[in-house]
Amino acid sequence: MAELYYDDDADLSIIASKKVAVIGYGSQGHAHALNLRDSGVDVTVGLREGSRSWAKAEEQGLKVAGIDEAVAAADVVVILAPDQAQRSIYAEHIAPNLKDGAALLFAHGFNIRFGYIDPAPGHDVVMVAPKGPGHLVRREYEAGRGVPVIVAVERDESGQAWELALSYAKAIGGLRAAGIKTTFTEETETDLFGEQAVLCGGASQLVQYGFETLTEAGYQPEVAYFEVLHELKLIVDLMYEGGIAKQRWSVSDTAEYGDYVSGPRVITPEVKENMKAVLGDIQSGAFAERFINDQDAGAPEFAELRAKGEAHPIEATGRELRKLFAWVETKDSDYTEGSAG
Ligand code: NDP
Ligand code: MG
Ligand code: MG
Repeated sequence: MAELYYDDDADLSIIASKKVAVIGYGSQGHAHALNLRDSGVDVTVGLREGSRSWAKAEEQGLKVAGIDEAVAAADVVVILAPDQAQRSIYAEHIAPNLKDGAALLFAHGFNIRFGYIDPAPGHDVVMVAPKGPGHLVRREYEAGRGVPVIVAVERDESGQAWELALSYAKAIGGLRAAGIKTTFTEETETDLFGEQAVLCGGASQLVQYGFETLTEAGYQPEVAYFEVLHELKLIVDLMYEGGIAKQRWSVSDTAEYGDYVSGPRVITPEVKENMKAVLGDIQSGAFAERFINDQDAGAPEFAELRAKGEAHPIEATGRELRKLFAWVETKDSDYTEGSAG
């Protein structure tokens, strides 16, 4: 059984006695900085010169400084810029300014696991990774709740790294839900696998194939959209509440029987073999290398794949339909604000 931690297992005064620099003010950055501040922690947001987030963070009452300056003053440096930007931010702005004994905190293990950041000895390296998008991390905190977090220690040079990580997890509200102990390796590899094979990659491809199959057979795209995309949320909500079993309990017997006989026809054992190959590329570092090499080259492959995804006919159908849905709160413009992680 995994080790779980709650508010009573952590001492808030540890993080509250430190100066914290949060680098980046995007999805995770804004949530961590605001939650820390509201938990009584001395926090400064570190941003690049000319950052479009500077005014926003100041308007929300936070101290803001350039990255070098924020790092130089900090006992704990929290790296919440996008994974592909972290290596150069670390080399150019963090490493040269990092105080002796200052701790480094990540929300995802990518750069440590794959060796893109290799901190000098003497620094604790810890992770507090919320298992949800930053906007939810902030919203739940304000509502008196929290998003569960994954907590790990890669290097414990102070002998206090674990207590520090738990204290930070408590300050952002994560331990109101739960903290689960893991390692940088486990978090990184399972996170990448989950998003690639199931949550993002697998689900997106499944929905696109379903939409293509129906529309190519002559059915109306709007009807296809409802059946294979819109209703997915309702199914996932049931799974979230009570597992696959609750979903099967709630749907009609017709749907449940169809699930049993057709699910394995669509998702064949070969798909599991493909998943194993995806996991292999994550573990070997091949995926990380492909992603970072493309980013370093200006992200041509990423841009091409993104454009291809956006051009899929299901997107145009969905855009038109969602304008008519009074009950869907999220506006299409919302997703320009930050990634979902
Ligand atoms: P975002 O893409 O939202 O980060 C954007 C912020 O990073 C902005 O403030 C931006 O600055 C700054 N930034 C981007 N590039 C640079 C650069 N080259 N130099 C300096 N600052 C830069 O990141 P996320 O919040 O999505 O991810 C942060 C970390 O959290 C990652 O490690 C990610 O894996 C992890 N994570 C993310 C989750 C999520 O929900 N998104 C979930 C769990 C973990 P500016 O304002 O100037 O544009
Ligand atoms: Mg139906
Ligand atoms: Mg992720």
